[in-house]
Amino acid sequence: MKSNRQTTLRRQVAVTGDGVHSGLPVTLTLGPASIDAGFVFVRSGSDGSERELRAITRHVISTELATVLGDRGGPLVGTVEHVLAALRGMGVDNATIEVDGPEVPVMDGSAADFVAAIDRAEVVSQSAQRRFIEVLRPVSVTMGNAVGELRPYSSGFRAEVEIDFENPLIGRQSYALDVTPARFRRELSRARTFGMMRDVKRLWSSGFALGASLKNSVVFDDERLLNNEGLRYADECVRHKILDVMGDMALAGLPLLGAYRSIRGGHKLNHAVLTALFADRGAWRVVERQSAHRRAARGLVDVGVGLAGGRIAAAYGPDVSWAIEESFFWRSRLCQALSAGGGACARQALTIMAVAGFAAGMGDRRSVGSDAVCGWFCWGLAGRLRLICVDERGLPP
Ligand SMILES: [Zn+2]
Repeated sequence: MKSNRQTTLRRQVAVTGDGVHSGLPVTLTLGPASIDAGFVFVRSGSDGSERELRAITRHVISTELATVLGDRGGPLVGTVEHVLAALRGMGVDNATIEVDGPEVPVMDGSAADFVAAIDRAEVVSQSAQRRFIEVLRPVSVTMGNAVGELRPYSSGFRAEVEIDFENPLIGRQSYALDVTPARFRRELSRARTFGMMRDVKRLWSSGFALGASLKNSVVFDDERLLNNEGLRYADECVRHKILDVMGDMALAGLPLLGAYRSIRGGHKLNHAVLTALFADRGAWRVVERQSAHRRAARGLVDVGVGLAGGRIAAAYGPDVSWAIEESFFWRSRLCQALSAGGGACARQALTIMAVAGFAAGMGDRRSVGSDAVCGWFCWGLAGRLRLICVDERGLPP
């Protein structure tokens, strides 16, 4: 799949579960959508009518217990955050999300079933360039003792989240990552919603969270975790908070090039930060993948000069990176990658460059080889190995 292109789903896939607030069964169907459509909710009415609504900040009508979308016609669908997190996290740009009830089904309280549905539906490239909202200057919001901030970060979307609960079983947890589809799947998608037993009881008594149970929530009382199966990650709570951030930030309408930091945050804060960003017209702009990457690769350009005619436009994507430990390891991975990509290289006259780990500066840069068709070399950057592909004109394929 070409990482600079927009993506959608190849086919429709349905999942069925219960709404966490209504407790009623709902079927959700993910499906393809056209270029620039974004994420569109379609709600089938009891009279056979259908209402559609794009998942964007302007359509958020409540963030009290979950994120609810609606318009002048009233609320359309609630608890949208986990399915949106899965779509954005897995690198989908355009999709329809049909629901036959007022809520997205809660499934197991995480995004795992939505990720599985996206896998079954298959992510496919479209013909248009992917577009991003690039954060140009920091925007922050304070709500009581909660703080949220979006700041410029040119190489993708980064989340830095800290939670601080009185309950000692949760306590203080923090987690930060550059979100890629692989890391989203592995580190975030299975983290479940969590809560305190006394809050759940209070919600039940006021008619909310009727579908909440130990099957779809991690629940603590003052002394212990009530779920017999235990936690999926030791820090499952903060990871779930990042999952929620992914879903809330998906309401930007396009993927973000920026870093989001929150301390003691939640849906309300996330929504307020995004609203503040859009209110400041000088704080953001829409860019296409290629220009975004060129900026990200600025530091690499001088190194590329001479290998690809001096016009390097890096087309690296997060999906072509591996974490590395030692130079020996990245060397062998580089060789594997080059031999695996050899056919594609020859066919498309690619230049493959690998960027591998060194801690700081460009001092450990080293050329490891070149030939008539493919010039390639590698050096380290922030402990990760990246392949950068450019064609003979120095442009992404
Ligand atoms: Zn959540």
